Amino acid sequence: MSKGALVILSGPSGVGKDTVIEAWKQIRPNVVRVVAYTTRQPRKGESDGIDYRFVSEDEFRTMADSGKFLEWKEVHGNFYATPLNDMQALLDDEKIAILKIDVQGAITAMEKRSDAISIFLLPPSWEELERRIRGRKTDSEEVIKIRLENAEREMAFADKYQHQVVNDDLNKCVEEIDRIVVSGR
Ligand code: ADP
Repeated sequence: MSKGALVILSGPSGVGKDTVIEAWKQIRPNVVRVVAYTTRQPRKGESDGIDYRFVSEDEFRTMADSGKFLEWKEVHGNFYATPLNDMQALLDDEKIAILKIDVQGAITAMEKRSDAISIFLLPPSWEELERRIRGRKTDSEEVIKIRLENAEREMAFADKYQHQVVNDDLNKCVEEIDRIVVSGR
């Protein structure tokens, strides 16, 4: 088993972050996503503790006030955060702990954890990003428009990350990320 590492993974919605993480786990069993906390309602098919830890706004505020989060933010009226304890427990256990976070959270995480390896996932093209977002069939036209606008803003942050990896061919993308994190190249 490879040794532990902290990985910050960002990229616009629909670029393939979840898909890449799942595929990476297949070839690197100690890869684990740090499950974020959120106050938003679970979507169909999501379960507590796997996709997110779904908590009330009161619970969230109490945790934020007592310093339990590496970073937290509000998006469209919902709160999201990275739990410090869970993250540290995974690192202590020699896991490759992935923070799948937005660009703002990522910048904060980079400042607080200089040991983290930061990776920005890029789509092969705008057309392909839009195709993937539409292909998921989970979003309304309005949400798709917002995601595409957000994507443009997020992509401007790509060069703040140590590594930029294009998710074109999934296996190649995963191999490149694995090489970066495990061999430090
Ligand atoms: P994110 O987690 O970044 O929002 P997802 O992992 O949900 O993105 O992927 C969005 C869509 O793109 C999914 O339908 C997924 O199957 C598809 N996808 C992901 N990676 C690739 C790839 N390398 N080639 C083609 N389709 C992909």
